[in-house]
Amino acid sequence: MPVLVIAEHDSASIKGATLNTVSAARQISMFSDGQVHVLVTGSQSTIVAAAAAQIEGVAKVLHADGEALTHGLAENLAAQVLAVASDYSHILFAATACGKNVAPRVAAKLDVAQISDITKVVSADTFERPIYAGNAIATVQTADATQIITVRTTGFDPAPATGGSASIQAVAAVANSGKSNYVGSEIAKSDRPDLTAAKIIVSGGRALGSKEKFDEVITPLADKLGAAIGASRAAVDAGYAPNDLQVGQTGKIVAPQLYIAAGISGAIQHLAGMKDSKVIVAINKDSEAPIFSVADYGLEADLFSAVPELTVLV
Ligand code: FAD
Repeated sequence: MPVLVIAEHDSASIKGATLNTVSAARQISMFSDGQVHVLVTGSQSTIVAAAAAQIEGVAKVLHADGEALTHGLAENLAAQVLAVASDYSHILFAATACGKNVAPRVAAKLDVAQISDITKVVSADTFERPIYAGNAIATVQTADATQIITVRTTGFDPAPATGGSASIQAVAAVANSGKSNYVGSEIAKSDRPDLTAAKIIVSGGRALGSKEKFDEVITPLADKLGAAIGASRAAVDAGYAPNDLQVGQTGKIVAPQLYIAAGISGAIQHLAGMKDSKVIVAINKDSEAPIFSVADYGLEADLFSAVPELTVLV
């Protein structure tokens, strides 16, 4: 049977997390001999379905276009997935806020166990996933007929967004469940790359001491590098940075090419969100700070002089 990926998009383009999820689906399909299909839901989302059809390795796009699917309300999206679920052996969601909102509803309705946050496909029914904030890897196997899976996107390289030529099949859109209503949204606009998709991240910790210092020290380096800004939970809790910048177990999971941690101690909950970064640079005045144990380059220095000096150099 084929493997289905639930696409995430902003009504104009497919989100990067979907490309990583397609890669996981392609690995499963090699074991299950099935094709990879993508479900695109929304209203006036033809352009998104066309983009999904371009993803390399996708054989078919199911396109459900209807009013009830406009804002991606979890109840309606789950109903749409359930409407096609019987045709699939595996249904994959990115382990994003959206995926984690919908996947459990689908699993519960199908009376199967959700397999969360996979980082490796071992076989068609066996997967690896991190536990204990990434300190141990569990290998989990399921006997369920339909497997509902969320994919940790940092565990899989993104599938190429072009190169495919999938067919697009329209499917009937579900009616509004009436269980929730869209009221409005406030979306922060930023010219910076999205934290989870950024190639470079500059992160600041409690050591910054205030929002003003955080902005004064971290922002210029991020600007120069074209980087996203991240923060430890301590920095977020203290109000130095907004909470959507939090990296870690209870924040965002990131794996950029370069992660610069300034004034961050490296608690396991922070490491859980960034230790898969390709190159880690740590700036800390304490040589014993645990962040140095995962750093490729460590600078034992006062960040208030080291970061501005680095900013001048890059
Ligand atoms: P600190 O631990 O206080 O470290 C500050 C560091 O700055 C120290 O190493 C110090 O040596 C250094 N420093 C001080 N002054 C300077 C200077 N002038 N120059 C250079 N270095 C300096 N944390 C997260 O980050 N993300 C999470 O998602 C997260 N989830 C959590 C979930 C749970 C259930 C729990 C219990 C905790 C979680 N935490 C998380 C909190 C985590 O345990 C730490 O408390 C937090 O990461 C510490 O943040 P910090 O490194 O900025 O601060």
